[in-house]
Amino acid sequence: MILIYTQNWDGKFKKLSYELASYGSALAKQMNTEAVALSIGEVADEELKTLGKYGISKVISVKNNNLDVLDNMLFSKIISQVAQKVAAKVCIFAHNNDGKALAPRIAAKFKAALVSDVTKLPKSTEPFVISKKVFTGKAFADVKINSEAKVLTLSQNSYGLVENMVDISIEQMTVEISKSNINIIDKSKISGRVILNDAEIVVSGGRGMKSGDNWSPIEELADILGAGTACSRPVSDEGWRPHGEHVGQTGKIIAPNLYFALGISGAIQHLGGVSNSKYIVAINTDKDAPIFEAADYGIVGDVHKILPELISEVKKLKK
Ligand SMILES: Cc1cc2nc3c(=O)[nH]c(=O)nc-3n(C[C@H](O)[C@H](O)[C@H](O)COP(=O)(O)OP(=O)(O)OC[C@H]3O[C@@H](n4cnc5c(N)ncnc54)[C@H](O)[C@@H]3O)c2cc1C
Repeated sequence: MILIYTQNWDGKFKKLSYELASYGSALAKQMNTEAVALSIGEVADEELKTLGKYGISKVISVKNNNLDVLDNMLFSKIISQVAQKVAAKVCIFAHNNDGKALAPRIAAKFKAALVSDVTKLPKSTEPFVISKKVFTGKAFADVKINSEAKVLTLSQNSYGLVENMVDISIEQMTVEISKSNINIIDKSKISGRVILNDAEIVVSGGRGMKSGDNWSPIEELADILGAGTACSRPVSDEGWRPHGEHVGQTGKIIAPNLYFALGISGAIQHLGGVSNSKYIVAINTDKDAPIFEAADYGIVGDVHKILPELISEVKKLKK
């Protein structure tokens, strides 16, 4: 059996969980077994059923009052219990903050080999050989797993969505867990702009923006598109933008559908945080800037002139 760990945001799945479902069900087919999805938290049955569109025929739903706090120790206990119950041979997580916190715990529990940041199905399953990203995505390594149990983290936006509608059953499972040792003293939800980690579109600025005072067109474009805003590291180091917006090797790792890199050179450390974006659009005065190698669409020119034009075109389309 293959177990995929889905994530929800306020009870709703996002593309990430459907990509895991697509990958897990294809891997199950390749291994001649079945894929089961695990959902932790308050997710309505109608939402759980949407996983069936991506080949998942069974979802185990765990709801418990002690689960309103994100506690990786607690969550990994639940995942272990479910993995044991379904006799999972492979557990799959997203390669994001949650997945990276949970996958090693599950691997340690089952003495399983962990391969992180995989992008494709295994080259072979006996022996189990799979390719993973290395050097912040600059190269790939083929890894052979010898352990019986296996844990994988799937690079976001790598496998994509593969529709394969099947009937899906839902099993509500009760698990025994103690109360979390984490006490939340205060909770404040970011309001207004879209949260960067969740954003499907991100508008990001680099040192080419010249000053923190020049950010209003970036914010305007983000508002029109319902996007999050981000920046390169020197921008946050300069104090032009808050550190929470810095993306890259030492900042947030994001995987939106659309990433605008405005006045960003495209250094490897920056790309390490954004290269999983589905489409990258770059505006840069330097036609040889490395960002153009990563970009799907590029405009060579002055961002201060092009951005207002882009905003007015997007406004026309949105009318
Ligand atoms: C260990 C380590 C970790 C790092 N981690 C990160 C990280 O997590 N994230 C990160 O971003 N960086 C990181 N860096 C820094 C990284 O190496 C680069 O220095 C940084 O990404 C460059 O930021 P930038 O592209 O905004 O600035 P620059 O390199 O200064 O590039 C500015 C770009 O803007 C263009 N430009 C200038 N004027 C205009 C204009 N008017 N219109 C359009 N384009 C214009 C220029 O042609 C240039 O390409 C790290 C470095 C190290 C050593």
